Amino acid sequence: MPKGFLPMNELLRAAAADGYAVPSFCAWNAESMITVLSVAADLRAPVILMNGPGEYPLLGPSDMAAVAHTVIRRFSQPVALHLDHGNSVPLVCECLAAGYTSVMLDFSQRPYRENAAAQREVVQLAHPRGVTVEGELGTLGGIEDEIAASHIILTNPEDAKKFVEQTGVDALAIAIGTSHGAYKFKATPTLAMDIVEKTHKLIPNTYLVMHGSSSVPKELVDEVNKFGGKVPNAMGVPIHMIQQAIKLGVRKINIDTDGRLAFTAAIRKYFVEHPEGFDQRKYLGEARQAIFTWIQSKMKDFGTAGHANDYKGITLKDTMARYAK
Ligand SMILES: [Zn+2]
Repeated sequence: MPKGFLPMNELLRAAAADGYAVPSFCAWNAESMITVLSVAADLRAPVILMNGPGEYPLLGPSDMAAVAHTVIRRFSQPVALHLDHGNSVPLVCECLAAGYTSVMLDFSQRPYRENAAAQREVVQLAHPRGVTVEGELGTLGGIEDEIAASHIILTNPEDAKKFVEQTGVDALAIAIGTSHGAYKFKATPTLAMDIVEKTHKLIPNTYLVMHGSSSVPKELVDEVNKFGGKVPNAMGVPIHMIQQAIKLGVRKINIDTDGRLAFTAAIRKYFVEHPEGFDQRKYLGEARQAIFTWIQSKMKDFGTAGHANDYKGITLKDTMARYAK
C-alpha cells in the first residue's frame, strides 16, 4: 500500500473508474491533518488534504508540506497533498519544491488567454515531476480566501474543452452556480447540472472538480446559533445535488465551510456548558470529535468509503514516465 503522498491524478483515476468522488478537506496543521487521515483510515477511504494562500500566513508551503510529510508516515491509505487556489506561478513553484503532489493555479478571474497561458506554464513545471494540475474556468460567487467573484460566470463546456486541450491540465474546477462560504443561496439552489454533463461528455478524461460544495446543514447552523453564534440564513448545496453531480462526472469535491461550522459549534457548546473551562486540549478535543463525525458522513455520502485498495501504489515517478509519453 502507498507510503507518502500519491499524485492526485491516481486518486481521481480510480474514482472515475468506479463512479465515486474524493473529498478534498482544508487541513493546515498537524491536528487537522491527523483528524482527516484518521477518519480516512477508519473508513478505508482515499482523501485529499489541501491548503493554500489562506493558510500560508500561519505556515508557509515548505513548513506546511514538512508537517504533512511527517504526519502521513503514520498512515497507509491513498492521500494527495494539494495546493488549493494558488495565486501565482512562483507560489506553485514553491509548492512543487516542497513536495505537494497536486497544484492548482486559480486565474479564473483573469481573461481566458492569460489564464490558459499561465496554466500551460504550470503544467510544464508540474508534469515533469509527476505532479497533478488542477485549473479553473468560470467563476464562483462568495468570498473566501481572498477570492471575491463580483459576478458569477458559469463554465462554458466548449471553452472547457479548448482550455484542457491548450493547457493539458488533469483536473478542472467548473462553475455551475455554487459559491464559497456559508451564505451560498437565499433559496433552494439550482445548479447547472447540464454543464457537468456536457463538459464530462466533451472531456471525459479530465477530472471535474466542484468547489464551494459545503452543504451547510441546518442542524449545524442551528447548533452554532443555539450556543451564542450569529450565523443567520446560511445555506449550502444539498447533498443529493452533490450526489447527482458525482453521477454526471464530478470526481473531486472541495469542502471547508461545513468543517468550520462543526468545529465552531462544538467549541461554543463546550464554553456554554463549561464556563469555567480554559484548557484548549479539552475544548479542541470536542471540536476534533465533531469534525471526525462530519468527515465520516462526507466519505459515506460521496461513495469514497471502502475504496482505499483501488490503488497500486503509483508514485510520482510512475506518473512522470506517463506524462513523458
Ligand atoms: Zn475553492
